[in-house]
Amino acid sequence: MILRDWLLIGLTWFGLPAPMAANEVEIVCSGQAVQGGLLICEASPGTTLVVSGAKGEALREVAVAEDGLATIGLRRTEALDLLITDKEGWSEPVTIPLQKRDDPFRTIKGLDCDKVDARTPEQKAHAGRSWVKKQDAFGTFHDGPGARTGFIRPSIGPASSPFGPARKYIGVGKDGEPCESTSVHRGYDIAIPIGTDIVAPAAGTVTLGDPDLYYEGGTVFLDHGDGLVSVFLHMSDVDVAVGDVVAAGDRLGASGNTGRTTGPHLHWAVKWRNSTSEDRGKDFYIDPALLLELDPLQ
Ligand SMILES: [Zn+2]
Repeated sequence: MILRDWLLIGLTWFGLPAPMAANEVEIVCSGQAVQGGLLICEASPGTTLVVSGAKGEALREVAVAEDGLATIGLRRTEALDLLITDKEGWSEPVTIPLQKRDDPFRTIKGLDCDKVDARTPEQKAHAGRSWVKKQDAFGTFHDGPGARTGFIRPSIGPASSPFGPARKYIGVGKDGEPCESTSVHRGYDIAIPIGTDIVAPAAGTVTLGDPDLYYEGGTVFLDHGDGLVSVFLHMSDVDVAVGDVVAAGDRLGASGNTGRTTGPHLHWAVKWRNSTSEDRGKDFYIDPALLLELDPLQ
Protein backbone atom coordinates (compact mmCIF):
# COMPACT_ATOMS: atom_id res chain seq x y z
CA MET A 1 0.00 0.00 0.00
CA ILE A 2 2.74 2.40 1.01
CA LEU A 3 4.79 1.54 -2.06
CA ARG A 4 1.81 2.10 -4.34
CA ASP A 5 0.98 5.46 -2.77
CA TRP A 6 4.57 6.49 -3.19
CA LEU A 7 4.48 5.43 -6.85
CA LEU A 8 1.32 7.42 -7.44
CA ILE A 9 2.86 10.56 -5.99
CA GLY A 10 6.15 9.94 -7.76
CA LEU A 11 4.58 9.43 -11.19
CA THR A 12 2.23 12.38 -10.83
CA TRP A 13 5.16 14.48 -9.83
CA PHE A 14 6.97 13.60 -13.05
CA GLY A 15 3.93 14.53 -15.10
CA LEU A 16 3.11 10.95 -16.19
CA PRO A 17 -0.42 9.53 -16.14
CA ALA A 18 -1.14 8.01 -12.75
CA PRO A 19 -1.22 4.22 -12.63
CA MET A 20 -4.41 2.45 -11.58
CA ALA A 21 -5.01 3.00 -7.90
CA ALA A 22 -6.46 0.45 -5.52
CA ASN A 23 -10.00 -0.66 -6.40
CA GLU A 24 -9.56 0.24 -10.05
CA VAL A 25 -8.38 -3.04 -11.62
CA GLU A 26 -11.48 -4.73 -12.94
CA ILE A 27 -12.17 -8.43 -12.51
CA VAL A 28 -13.83 -9.64 -15.71
CA CYS A 29 -15.17 -13.18 -15.85
CA SER A 30 -16.27 -15.21 -18.87
CA GLY A 31 -16.96 -18.91 -19.33
CA GLN A 32 -19.97 -20.89 -18.14
CA ALA A 33 -21.74 -19.21 -15.22
CA VAL A 34 -23.78 -22.27 -14.31
CA GLN A 35 -23.50 -24.81 -11.48
CA GLY A 36 -20.95 -27.39 -12.65
CA GLY A 37 -19.40 -24.90 -15.09
CA LEU A 38 -16.09 -23.09 -15.33
CA LEU A 39 -15.30 -19.39 -15.01
CA ILE A 40 -12.25 -17.81 -16.57
CA CYS A 41 -11.58 -14.52 -14.80
CA GLU A 42 -9.18 -11.81 -15.82
CA ALA A 43 -7.49 -10.00 -12.94
CA SER A 44 -4.08 -8.69 -11.88
CA PRO A 45 -1.38 -11.32 -12.59
CA GLY A 46 0.06 -12.85 -9.44
CA THR A 47 -2.88 -11.92 -7.23
CA THR A 48 -5.29 -14.33 -5.56
CA LEU A 49 -9.04 -14.30 -6.12
CA VAL A 50 -11.37 -15.13 -3.26
CA VAL A 51 -14.65 -16.79 -4.23
CA SER A 52 -17.44 -16.30 -1.68
CA GLY A 53 -21.09 -17.31 -1.45
CA ALA A 54 -24.08 -14.98 -1.17
CA LYS A 55 -23.76 -14.79 2.62
CA GLY A 56 -20.12 -13.82 2.36
CA GLU A 57 -18.81 -17.27 3.27
CA ALA A 58 -15.39 -17.84 1.68
CA LEU A 59 -15.56 -20.87 -0.61
CA ARG A 60 -12.08 -21.01 -2.10
CA GLU A 61 -9.05 -18.99 -3.12
CA VAL A 62 -7.69 -19.27 -6.65
CA ALA A 63 -4.38 -17.88 -7.89
CA VAL A 64 -4.30 -15.66 -10.98
CA ALA A 65 -1.78 -16.98 -13.54
CA GLU A 66 1.00 -14.88 -15.07
CA ASP A 67 -1.16 -14.09 -18.10
CA GLY A 68 -3.79 -12.60 -15.77
CA LEU A 69 -6.29 -15.46 -15.99
CA ALA A 70 -7.77 -17.47 -13.13
CA THR A 71 -9.60 -20.71 -13.92
CA ILE A 72 -12.37 -21.24 -11.38
CA GLY A 73 -14.35 -24.48 -11.32
CA LEU A 74 -17.94 -24.34 -10.09
CA ARG A 75 -19.45 -27.14 -8.02
CA ARG A 76 -22.58 -28.93 -9.16
CA THR A 77 -24.24 -27.54 -6.03
CA GLU A 78 -22.45 -24.16 -6.01
CA ALA A 79 -24.03 -21.13 -4.27
CA LEU A 80 -26.07 -19.22 -6.85
CA ASP A 81 -24.71 -15.71 -6.32
CA LEU A 82 -20.95 -15.76 -6.15
CA LEU A 83 -18.88 -12.83 -5.03
CA ILE A 84 -15.37 -12.67 -6.43
CA THR A 85 -12.85 -10.34 -4.82
CA ASP A 86 -9.11 -10.22 -4.88
CA LYS A 87 -7.28 -10.91 -1.67
CA GLU A 88 -4.87 -8.04 -2.17
CA GLY A 89 -7.69 -5.50 -2.49
CA TRP A 90 -6.68 -4.17 -5.92
CA SER A 91 -10.04 -4.76 -7.57
CA GLU A 92 -13.69 -4.00 -7.11
CA PRO A 93 -15.58 -7.15 -6.09
CA VAL A 94 -17.83 -8.62 -8.78
CA THR A 95 -21.03 -10.61 -8.32
CA ILE A 96 -21.56 -13.54 -10.65
CA PRO A 97 -25.13 -14.88 -10.72
CA LEU A 98 -25.08 -18.59 -11.56
CA GLN A 99 -27.64 -20.51 -13.50
CA LYS A 100 -29.11 -23.31 -11.38
CA ARG A 101 -28.82 -26.91 -12.53
CA ASP A 102 -31.92 -29.04 -12.67
CA ASP A 103 -30.55 -32.58 -12.60
CA PRO A 104 -33.03 -35.43 -12.15
CA PHE A 105 -33.01 -37.47 -8.93
CA ARG A 106 -34.06 -41.10 -8.94
CA THR A 107 -34.54 -43.67 -6.18
CA ILE A 108 -33.85 -47.28 -7.11
CA LYS A 109 -35.10 -49.92 -4.66
CA GLY A 110 -34.55 -53.64 -4.20
CA LEU A 111 -30.93 -53.91 -5.24
CA ASP A 112 -28.42 -56.44 -3.98
CA CYS A 113 -26.08 -54.20 -1.95
CA ASP A 114 -23.10 -56.47 -2.38
CA LYS A 115 -23.37 -56.70 -6.13
CA VAL A 116 -21.56 -53.56 -7.14
CA ASP A 117 -18.72 -53.41 -4.67
CA ALA A 118 -15.46 -55.32 -4.45
CA ARG A 119 -16.14 -58.42 -2.30
CA THR A 120 -13.33 -60.95 -2.41
CA PRO A 121 -9.91 -60.15 -0.88
CA GLU A 122 -8.44 -60.14 -4.41
CA GLN A 123 -11.08 -57.68 -5.66
CA LYS A 124 -10.59 -55.47 -2.62
CA ALA A 125 -6.81 -55.47 -3.07
CA HIS A 126 -7.23 -54.62 -6.78
CA ALA A 127 -9.64 -51.79 -5.93
CA GLY A 128 -7.21 -50.52 -3.27
CA ARG A 129 -4.25 -50.49 -5.67
CA SER A 130 -6.38 -48.70 -8.27
CA TRP A 131 -7.40 -46.04 -5.73
CA VAL A 132 -3.76 -45.33 -4.84
CA LYS A 133 -2.82 -44.96 -8.53
CA LYS A 134 -5.63 -42.46 -9.07
CA GLN A 135 -4.77 -40.42 -5.98
CA ASP A 136 -1.10 -40.28 -7.00
CA ALA A 137 -2.06 -39.06 -10.48
CA PHE A 138 -4.48 -36.44 -9.13
CA GLY A 139 -1.63 -35.12 -6.98
CA THR A 140 0.57 -34.15 -9.93
CA PHE A 141 0.26 -30.81 -11.74
CA HIS A 142 1.54 -29.84 -15.20
CA ASP A 143 1.56 -26.68 -17.25
CA GLY A 144 -0.75 -26.54 -20.22
CA PRO A 145 -3.34 -24.38 -21.98
CA GLY A 146 -6.06 -25.26 -19.45
CA ALA A 147 -9.36 -24.08 -20.88
CA ARG A 148 -7.82 -21.31 -23.02
CA THR A 149 -7.93 -23.29 -26.27
CA GLY A 150 -11.40 -24.78 -25.72
CA PHE A 151 -12.32 -28.47 -25.82
CA ILE A 152 -13.31 -30.84 -28.61
CA ARG A 153 -15.32 -34.07 -28.23
CA PRO A 154 -12.99 -36.95 -27.31
CA SER A 155 -14.99 -39.38 -29.41
CA ILE A 156 -17.73 -39.22 -32.01
CA GLY A 157 -20.97 -40.77 -30.86
CA PRO A 158 -24.27 -40.01 -29.14
CA ALA A 159 -24.19 -38.73 -25.55
CA SER A 160 -25.85 -41.48 -23.51
CA SER A 161 -25.68 -40.19 -19.95
CA PRO A 162 -25.13 -36.57 -18.93
CA PHE A 163 -23.22 -35.17 -15.96
CA GLY A 164 -25.20 -34.48 -12.82
CA PRO A 165 -28.11 -36.83 -12.08
CA ALA A 166 -28.11 -38.37 -8.60
CA ARG A 167 -29.34 -41.87 -7.87
CA LYS A 168 -30.24 -43.19 -4.45
CA TYR A 169 -29.95 -46.96 -4.14
CA ILE A 170 -31.92 -48.69 -1.39
CA GLY A 171 -31.24 -52.38 -1.11
CA VAL A 172 -30.70 -55.44 1.01
CA GLY A 173 -27.30 -56.97 1.73
CA LYS A 174 -26.22 -60.62 1.90
CA ASP A 175 -27.15 -60.97 5.53
CA GLY A 176 -30.47 -59.18 5.16
CA GLU A 177 -29.22 -55.85 6.44
CA PRO A 178 -30.57 -52.77 4.66
CA CYS A 179 -28.20 -50.51 2.82
CA GLU A 180 -28.47 -47.14 1.17
CA SER A 181 -26.13 -45.21 -1.04
CA THR A 182 -26.38 -42.16 -3.24
CA SER A 183 -24.20 -41.64 -6.25
CA VAL A 184 -23.98 -38.79 -8.67
CA HIS A 185 -22.95 -39.31 -12.28
CA ARG A 186 -19.85 -37.12 -12.49
CA GLY A 187 -18.94 -37.74 -16.10
CA TYR A 188 -20.34 -37.50 -19.60
CA ASP A 189 -21.00 -40.82 -21.32
CA ILE A 190 -20.64 -41.33 -25.04
CA ALA A 191 -22.16 -44.53 -26.41
CA ILE A 192 -19.68 -45.96 -28.91
CA PRO A 193 -18.75 -49.47 -30.01
CA ILE A 194 -15.67 -51.14 -28.53
CA GLY A 195 -12.55 -50.05 -30.41
CA THR A 196 -13.66 -46.51 -31.31
CA ASP A 197 -10.85 -43.93 -31.28
CA ILE A 198 -10.56 -41.70 -28.21
CA VAL A 199 -8.66 -38.46 -28.74
CA ALA A 200 -7.42 -35.69 -26.46
CA PRO A 201 -10.14 -32.99 -26.09
CA ALA A 202 -7.38 -30.43 -25.44
CA ALA A 203 -3.59 -30.52 -25.16
CA GLY A 204 -2.10 -32.00 -22.00
CA THR A 205 0.27 -34.32 -20.20
CA VAL A 206 -0.69 -37.93 -19.46
CA THR A 207 -0.61 -38.55 -15.68
CA LEU A 208 -2.14 -42.04 -15.65
CA GLY A 209 -2.35 -44.73 -18.31
CA ASP A 210 -3.49 -48.09 -16.95
CA PRO A 211 -5.29 -50.90 -18.78
CA ASP A 212 -6.90 -52.43 -15.70
CA LEU A 213 -8.22 -50.42 -12.74
CA TYR A 214 -10.86 -52.28 -10.71
CA TYR A 215 -13.95 -50.09 -11.21
CA GLU A 216 -12.66 -47.99 -14.09
CA GLY A 217 -11.07 -50.58 -16.38
CA GLY A 218 -8.69 -49.10 -18.99
CA THR A 219 -8.02 -45.57 -17.76
CA VAL A 220 -6.23 -42.43 -18.95
CA PHE A 221 -5.80 -39.18 -16.99
CA LEU A 222 -4.79 -36.14 -19.04
CA ASP A 223 -3.66 -32.98 -17.22
CA HIS A 224 -4.57 -29.93 -19.36
CA GLY A 225 -2.96 -27.37 -17.05
CA ASP A 226 -4.55 -24.91 -14.58
CA GLY A 227 -5.54 -27.95 -12.51
CA LEU A 228 -7.97 -29.29 -15.15
CA VAL A 229 -7.65 -33.02 -15.71
CA SER A 230 -9.64 -35.17 -18.13
CA VAL A 231 -10.43 -38.73 -17.05
CA PHE A 232 -11.30 -41.45 -19.59
CA LEU A 233 -12.67 -44.78 -18.32
CA HIS A 234 -13.61 -48.27 -19.55
CA MET A 235 -11.12 -48.20 -22.44
CA SER A 236 -10.18 -51.36 -24.37
CA ASP A 237 -6.81 -49.95 -25.46
CA VAL A 238 -4.57 -47.47 -23.68
CA ASP A 239 -1.96 -46.17 -26.14
CA VAL A 240 -0.34 -43.49 -24.00
CA ALA A 241 1.90 -43.61 -20.95
CA VAL A 242 2.63 -41.33 -18.01
CA GLY A 243 4.62 -38.28 -19.13
CA ASP A 244 3.42 -38.30 -22.75
CA VAL A 245 2.57 -34.81 -23.97
CA VAL A 246 -0.28 -34.74 -26.48
CA ALA A 247 -2.01 -32.14 -28.64
CA ALA A 248 -5.77 -31.72 -29.03
CA GLY A 249 -6.99 -34.48 -31.35
CA ASP A 250 -4.12 -36.91 -30.66
CA ARG A 251 -5.21 -40.52 -30.14
CA LEU A 252 -5.16 -41.78 -26.53
CA GLY A 253 -6.51 -45.26 -27.21
CA ALA A 254 -9.83 -46.93 -27.90
CA SER A 255 -13.15 -47.22 -26.11
CA GLY A 256 -14.28 -50.43 -24.49
CA ASN A 257 -16.40 -52.12 -21.87
CA THR A 258 -13.81 -52.70 -19.16
CA GLY A 259 -14.24 -52.21 -15.40
CA ARG A 260 -17.67 -51.81 -13.82
CA THR A 261 -19.91 -50.98 -16.77
CA THR A 262 -23.33 -51.87 -18.06
CA GLY A 263 -22.31 -51.72 -21.72
CA PRO A 264 -19.66 -50.32 -24.07
CA HIS A 265 -19.20 -46.58 -23.67
CA LEU A 266 -16.67 -43.88 -22.92
CA HIS A 267 -17.00 -42.15 -19.54
CA TRP A 268 -15.29 -38.76 -19.88
CA ALA A 269 -15.00 -36.71 -16.72
CA VAL A 270 -13.16 -33.48 -15.99
CA LYS A 271 -11.87 -32.67 -12.53
CA TRP A 272 -11.11 -29.12 -11.43
CA ARG A 273 -8.24 -29.18 -8.97
CA ASN A 274 -7.38 -26.01 -7.11
CA SER A 275 -3.63 -25.73 -7.54
CA THR A 276 -3.64 -22.90 -4.98
CA SER A 277 -4.67 -25.42 -2.29
CA GLU A 278 -2.82 -28.46 -0.92
CA ASP A 279 -6.12 -30.13 -0.04
CA ARG A 280 -6.95 -32.56 -2.86
CA GLY A 281 -10.15 -33.58 -1.01
CA LYS A 282 -11.72 -30.26 -1.99
CA ASP A 283 -11.29 -30.80 -5.74
CA PHE A 284 -14.40 -31.72 -7.69
CA TYR A 285 -15.75 -32.76 -11.07
CA ILE A 286 -17.32 -30.24 -13.45
CA ASP A 287 -19.63 -30.78 -16.42
CA PRO A 288 -17.68 -31.75 -19.59
CA ALA A 289 -20.62 -30.81 -21.84
CA LEU A 290 -20.28 -27.19 -20.68
CA LEU A 291 -16.57 -27.21 -21.56
CA LEU A 292 -17.43 -28.19 -25.13
CA GLU A 293 -19.36 -24.90 -25.42
CA LEU A 294 -16.50 -22.71 -24.16
CA ASP A 295 -15.13 -20.20 -26.63
CA PRO A 296 -11.36 -20.54 -27.08
CA LEU A 297 -9.43 -17.50 -25.90
CA GLN A 298 -6.53 -17.97 -28.30
ZN1 LIG B 1 -20.30 -42.47 -16.99
